[in-house]
Amino acid sequence: MIEILNPSELARAKDTGALVADILQTLRSRTSVGTNLLDIDRWTKEMIVEAGAESCYVDYAPSFGRGPFGHYICTAVNDAVLHGLPHDYTLADGDLLSLDLAVSLEGVAADSAISFIVGESKPPESVALINATERALRAGIAAAGPGARTGDISHAIGSVLREAGYSINTEFGGHGIGSTMHQDPHVSNTGRPGRGYKLRPGLMLALEPWVMADTAELVTDADGWTLRSATGCRTAHSEHTIAITDDGAEILTLPSHARP
Ligand code: MG
Ligand code: MG
Repeated sequence: MIEILNPSELARAKDTGALVADILQTLRSRTSVGTNLLDIDRWTKEMIVEAGAESCYVDYAPSFGRGPFGHYICTAVNDAVLHGLPHDYTLADGDLLSLDLAVSLEGVAADSAISFIVGESKPPESVALINATERALRAGIAAAGPGARTGDISHAIGSVLREAGYSINTEFGGHGIGSTMHQDPHVSNTGRPGRGYKLRPGLMLALEPWVMADTAELVTDADGWTLRSATGCRTAHSEHTIAITDDGAEILTLPSHARP
């Protein structure tokens, strides 16, 4: 199903987007060497409850996962990239952490992910991975607007990732979002321009380029949720929720310091 949001729903979507972005920035600022992934999950729960919002994850039980997710945020470290299940792990200097958060507020969901390096050391390969996903996300957003097609976004994202030297996994990508977290249309991280669903004002999309340093193959962790690179290489993930407007696309999950 594809949802087109009305102006009142879009206004609420901005509130949800701002909440998701602010929670992620707070988590980023609190996270340091010695932080446990379960602390991050607990802080997330506290902020969601405080805001009167609902987690999109706690009861999430898709066919590819093992039972309800049971946590409030995805925490993926180093070779883990998607659906990282929070567990008892203490972050070390140089760990590459991806946080992915979806929340619903007054019936409208928003979804965003950030990757960053914990501590002082900045391994060049990790920096390059993060930069590539952030650049690809910006390119995908720039390609979105009324009359553009999902294939234009996919092509823009894929071109940046390929030029940066990465191969692209097509099992998981971006998606429509609205009253629920995951909706049609699917927005692959690679594709052909001019193909796919034609975007129109009121459509909300979550765009989410993610890469693995030297492979496109995933393996599922023994926890039944966390997806890791098949080779053990490092990975990164960047995601924003956007709304198609009359004259372009508006990013709903910008952190407060970047909002207009
Ligand atoms: Mg997400
Ligand atoms: Mg998403």
